[in-house]
Amino acid sequence: MEKISSMKVNILNKTLTELENGVLNLGQPKYRAEQVFKSIHKYSVSDFKGIKGIPENLKQILENHYYIDNLKLSDLKESPNDKTKKFLFELPSGNKIETVLIFEKERKTICVSTQAGCNVGCEFCATGKIGFRINLEASQIISQIYEVINITGIFPTNIVYMGMGEPFLNYENVIKSLLIITNKNGIGIPSGRITVSTVGFKDKLRKFTGDILKKENQSIKNIKLAFSLHSTDNGFREKLIPTSKKNPLKDIYKELSYFYSKTKNKVTYEYIFFEGLNDKKEDINRLTRLSKMIPCNINIIPFHKIGFKLNEPLEKFNSKESEKNIDGNKNSLSNKKLFEFIEELKSQKVVVNLRASSGVDIFAACGQLAAGRTDNIAR
Ligand code: SF4
Repeated sequence: MEKISSMKVNILNKTLTELENGVLNLGQPKYRAEQVFKSIHKYSVSDFKGIKGIPENLKQILENHYYIDNLKLSDLKESPNDKTKKFLFELPSGNKIETVLIFEKERKTICVSTQAGCNVGCEFCATGKIGFRINLEASQIISQIYEVINITGIFPTNIVYMGMGEPFLNYENVIKSLLIITNKNGIGIPSGRITVSTVGFKDKLRKFTGDILKKENQSIKNIKLAFSLHSTDNGFREKLIPTSKKNPLKDIYKELSYFYSKTKNKVTYEYIFFEGLNDKKEDINRLTRLSKMIPCNINIIPFHKIGFKLNEPLEKFNSKESEKNIDGNKNSLSNKKLFEFIEELKSQKVVVNLRASSGVDIFAACGQLAAGRTDNIAR
């Protein structure tokens, strides 16, 4: 009789390779791992008894060593404006995380969280204001995608790791989750449709480059990077992103060039528009030079109000009167400066896009995620 493990583990945390080693250790043939992985990740089987094509004794063995645990939905909001959906999930620890489903032309993008809270502390970000709570396990990252698919019946065209948390500060679990969702025996999302966003850490971008190019990590070799730039001036950027003091732009630029030279994967620069602060002539000149360094897009993002007090010089953007309504109308007064900035960059042949403010009315837009509840009081 198979011994029951006293420390059962969530099988959703296992990559296919890890599961193969697991079944071999349990005295089972390696190919069984693929059957199990496929049932769980491709066909959403949530109970070992429901796995077809494997012997009954293996089901019992799996039961003795593993469990299957998906996230529990605790709330769902939908924007009446643009149909963006925001999902609130509760972790076993009681912490809450948010996941967003965004519709943009033919794209259906799921934006996943990688941590509950975040200790980077970006000045413009509600998640940064609540501080770090907990790293998500790989299973909790992938489960956000599975649950969104289960609940809505919508299969995503794109996945972005841009929700709550800094993916590079939960590195191992993020890599594991990427390996699981790109595996063809699972939901098989092509890696070229996945973007991981970071504020940039020295050496980690280089490590990431090496890791996605490893022979055994073939399925994630086309993952794209989004770099939270927001200013090309180190001084102002340090006010926005505290960790940038230790990670100056010259070092990060070197690592982004390295990433491109090795992978040929395009980089996106995220740039929140702060009128009068990062839209000057020098900013345009530096962005133009930067855009020539490696093939890239620059995404211009309108600032979205958050329910926390901000340090100067940002607080003025957080007031009700200053709320911008980015509605695609170039002539509307509130949009004028932003569109002029974009036009100026375009005239310099910079590839620049205006990122839509999807879900701003339900606090689901960029920078607004904080599981917007009274349980998340700024520390
Ligand atoms: S923007 Fe990202 S890295 Fe910065 S505080 Fe928010 S979640 Fe963390």
